[in-house]
Amino acid sequence: MAKIKFQTPTGMHDILPQDQVYFQKVYKTIEKAFDFYGFEKIDTPILENAELFSRSIGMNTDIVEKEMYILRTKEGKDALALRPEGTAPIMRAYLEHGLNTYPQPIKLWYHGPFFRHEKPQAGRYRQFWQYGFEVLGDKEAIVDAQTIVIMYNILCDLGINDSIVKINSIGDENCRGEYRKALVKFLRSKKNEFCKDCLRRTKTNPLRVLDCKDEKCKELMNEGPQIIDYLCEDCKTHLKSVLEYLEELKIPFTLDPFLVRGLDYYTRTVFEIEAPVTEEEGTGVLAGGGRYDILSKVLGKANIPSCGAAAGIERIVSAMKARKVEGVYASMPKVFISQIGPLAKKKGLLIFEELRKAGIKATESFSKDSLKAQLSRANKLNINIVIIIGQKEALRDMVIIRDMETGKQAEVNIKEMVKEVKKRLK
Ligand code: ATP
Ligand code: MG
Repeated sequence: MAKIKFQTPTGMHDILPQDQVYFQKVYKTIEKAFDFYGFEKIDTPILENAELFSRSIGMNTDIVEKEMYILRTKEGKDALALRPEGTAPIMRAYLEHGLNTYPQPIKLWYHGPFFRHEKPQAGRYRQFWQYGFEVLGDKEAIVDAQTIVIMYNILCDLGINDSIVKINSIGDENCRGEYRKALVKFLRSKKNEFCKDCLRRTKTNPLRVLDCKDEKCKELMNEGPQIIDYLCEDCKTHLKSVLEYLEELKIPFTLDPFLVRGLDYYTRTVFEIEAPVTEEEGTGVLAGGGRYDILSKVLGKANIPSCGAAAGIERIVSAMKARKVEGVYASMPKVFISQIGPLAKKKGLLIFEELRKAGIKATESFSKDSLKAQLSRANKLNINIVIIIGQKEALRDMVIIRDMETGKQAEVNIKEMVKEVKKRLK
């Protein structure tokens, strides 16, 4: 029989303990930051009705056209999708639970796995982790600016101090139509030069051409019309204020007139934050976001003006490693418990729990019987306080406390043990 080799599915990866230290660092850092900024955590299901995404992200986007994992339940009635992003589910939850009846804005953050059936490459996976946040129910430009600032500052907290914000406005329902017309006219005039996908996009969703990853298309687009020139007065004022806030806070940014992002629900502000990641990955987009005032309307409700952003944790971890940022390591045990004989083993288990209750981190090798092997393990772990229990001590409820540095040993009653250990740890 052929050997079966089970591996992670293509584009998906295990996060082993040596990487958990970085993922933990990210989690701890964002948890603290979001608490400070007044966000509350939300978890939504991994699976959502597929239509939630096709409606909100847009039918003719890469995510919906190519990247969604869709599964049918056994009865075959529901088409459920593995969530490719977090904003639409959060807006769904906001509407479903009537969060609009509470004082606005509602500020929520999240952290978890997301799924996109993309071509796997460095920094691009089919299951990847994101953290993100949304400010729902606020239309003011200061919210857009603060969204960018929060993302930028969290990256700094994680030791990534050299990121740059790329920002643009893609207008709103008032002005985007005019731009779309101008864009289509331009695309038609060059129709033999753009890629096949872009030709199709010209008909279905012309703004998507701006997001084409093909180098030739990108270059052609440089001569195309810029949305900034088509913004209505309100959108222009909005953008101007966002930029003024960013300047005030000295956030490094560049205006990128062709930035549109791959999701249809954005209005006005869109942004990405990029930084050098690794040699292999080059400069990577670590985070992106923007304003989405019409998303709730697409989902069948009144407009809830909102703004948010999401960051890719794998790319951030690569960038952290490249900058030699330390992860979060578990604390080292302070006490080692060693035992000889069956009765001592039982007492050993008890003592281990006593130390846990006292908040003293301890370790053991209960499955080893030789004292020599146990002491050498304690030595390897650099633990100075070893508690030794032999048959004789176990019978009398006593333990020996050994100072590994001096080799000195003292006998104490089990009841006194925690007190004595605490004294020595001081
Ligand atoms: P890209 O332009 O790189 O495809 P995107 O615009 O599709 O990114 P968003 O939907 O804005 O990405 O997701 C936010 C962040 O999540 C990205 O900036 C990136 O860091 C990360 N991310 C997106 N897709 C992937 C993926 N397939 N693998 C790993 N990280 C990803
Ligand atoms: Mg993408």
